[in-house]
Amino acid sequence: MILNFINGQYREGRGGRTFDDINPVDGSLVARVSEAAREDVDDAVRAARAALAGPWASLKLAQRCDLLYAVAAEIDRRAEDFISAEVADTGKPRSLAAHLDIPRGAANFRVFADAVRDVPTEAFTTHAPDGKPALNYALRRPKGVIAVICPWNLPLLLMTWKVGPALACGNTVVVKPSEETPATAALLGEVMNSVGVPHGVYNVVHGLGPESAGEFLSTHPDIDAITFTGETRTGAAIIKAAGAGIKPVSMELGGKNAAVVFADADLDVTIAGLTRSVFENTGQVCLGTERVYVQRGVFDEVVQRLAEAASRLKPGRPGDRETNFGPLISHEHQRKVLNYYGLAREEGATVVCGGGVPETGAALQGGAWIEPTIWTGLPHGSRVASEEIFGPCCVVIPFDKEAEALQMANDSRYGLAASVYTQNIDRVHSFAAALQVGIVWVNTWFLRDLRTAFGGSKASGIGREGGVHSLEFYTELSNVCIKLNGAEQ
Ligand code: NAD
Repeated sequence: MILNFINGQYREGRGGRTFDDINPVDGSLVARVSEAAREDVDDAVRAARAALAGPWASLKLAQRCDLLYAVAAEIDRRAEDFISAEVADTGKPRSLAAHLDIPRGAANFRVFADAVRDVPTEAFTTHAPDGKPALNYALRRPKGVIAVICPWNLPLLLMTWKVGPALACGNTVVVKPSEETPATAALLGEVMNSVGVPHGVYNVVHGLGPESAGEFLSTHPDIDAITFTGETRTGAAIIKAAGAGIKPVSMELGGKNAAVVFADADLDVTIAGLTRSVFENTGQVCLGTERVYVQRGVFDEVVQRLAEAASRLKPGRPGDRETNFGPLISHEHQRKVLNYYGLAREEGATVVCGGGVPETGAALQGGAWIEPTIWTGLPHGSRVASEEIFGPCCVVIPFDKEAEALQMANDSRYGLAASVYTQNIDRVHSFAAALQVGIVWVNTWFLRDLRTAFGGSKASGIGREGGVHSLEFYTELSNVCIKLNGAEQ
């Protein structure tokens, strides 16, 4: 049984309710998960509040950072446990979890322990009306108890992306992992205890969203801020709850990201980038590409080479050496993606490859498998080209002029990320500046120094996290003005 982690103790939810954690590779049961009742969420928030005023607050900054470095080292030491837990929950290839999810989970503690040592504040000398000098400066305090509500696609990575900076800034957290992927958040509790993070600093409550732990946490009167990653619609519900309590929010939401390929692009680089951005993690990456605009002169070649790359994706058991493509997270999500595969045909798409469920053999038959899929022939305004699918698929659309590509790339309710493939450096600069997104990649994808800003515009989010931007969200500024009784200056 996967348990809640409250005040340093693993415990069952008060209501005695459980839900199933299913392995999407074959539909087998990973574990039962103990669902937190409202009273458990109350306990977790209370424990986080007590830790905030207690042992956690009394640590010097350097001691707090040392604990976070120790958390990172312990995740590294127990990497195999974390990889196994993540793979069982998500079905993703073991190689992907080993290279991306778990190392980044550890890095998130190191990076923000480093960052918090250098966080800038402002200081000015000013003058009172009597001419005496005054020193006016800002202090940073922890924001308090942070509610961290997480999705299932990169469970440890995205959760620590928030827990790392929150703890670095001296806050305490109550985490609500996705009901699909509760394991690594629970395992992190063992790490916190083993390196000596005071009880109550890190708490985990399991459950669903509405009328369950997600709602109990996001509407809790004694949290101080909510940081959320997930669907735009869920984000809107949480913003509403936060508004009622006047709580600050950081929102990392959905996307329908464009890639723009110009005829002068290096097509080897382009295909390598697109293959990752469309298909990695079975397309379940918020930053992934679902719209590809290609300049007409290279359109056919890009479509053909991307389809060849798709044909080299091998579904299979996560630990098998040749497996480089996992299942979707669940049958529910598979149904959603398959609905879009059907809709694409209704909207008149040419199915270049995929479009259904692959033959996987008996051992994987209970899994949520899906084919990597490429469409052409769909208009830019079609639903398939406009709505977030969150699967391993893309619409490829030709363009002639740069202005046309820019207009289509920006014509979206979302504004998370875009990638541009070209060798024209002048164009890169102007085109990147004109894209209405939070992140632009040029001739690459998913490459980022963790000190830079991360977040989306429009319906893709509110606020930025990363480096000093995370520290802005997870701290409260107090303005201090000291009148000095020294000589007039
Ligand atoms: P989701 O919104 O369904 O769920 C996210 C979390 O919110 C889960 O823990 C869920 O239990 C909880 N939740 C659901 N309803 C709630 C409610 N009413 N109150 C409180 N909590 C509630 O998202 P998902 O399906 O887990 O993740 C996929 C989505 O996340 C995609 O839209 C994707 O684009 C987005 N995403 C965005 C980013 C980003 O950085 N912008 C990163 C990863 C994923």
